[in-house]
Amino acid sequence: MAVREQGDELLFMDWTLNVPYRWAAGIYVGRFLKGLRDEEKIYANDCPNCGRYLLPPRVVCGRCHVRMGDDYTEVGPQGTVLAFAVCEQSFIDPSTGLPRQVPYSSASILMDGAPVTFTHFLEECDPERLSVGMRVEAVFKAPNQRDGLVTDILHFKTVKEGN
Ligand SMILES: [Zn+2]
Repeated sequence: MAVREQGDELLFMDWTLNVPYRWAAGIYVGRFLKGLRDEEKIYANDCPNCGRYLLPPRVVCGRCHVRMGDDYTEVGPQGTVLAFAVCEQSFIDPSTGLPRQVPYSSASILMDGAPVTFTHFLEECDPERLSVGMRVEAVFKAPNQRDGLVTDILHFKTVKEGN
């Protein structure tokens, strides 16, 4: 094994991988994605044993290890911010393969309609205008621009008081 000596030149190769792939969303996540794309609705499901909700819906409750219910509960489109972060560092967005523009903000949102949280981007990126407890609402892409992805929700916008 060669040992790199200090001062040795490091060589780099620029190489872009092209590895397209598809995966089956399954019945439960598929229902969630169809709800976003076709109905502009957000669905969660609940565990028949412990009663907790999962969003996106899952097949099995990770706590009880029992099959989740087949009924879906519509939540949102509004919710309450439980925690948020404003990010200044870009990353490669896995859904586009392109760098995410900064700043951007994301939040854990307690959705109306069921005790379940959903993590997504916020429209507002100014930390002075963000707070725990603020109300937000999902903003969907136009119907003809939706792909059946979680990004069919562009972001959550701030709900102004009194609206
Ligand atoms: Zn459970």
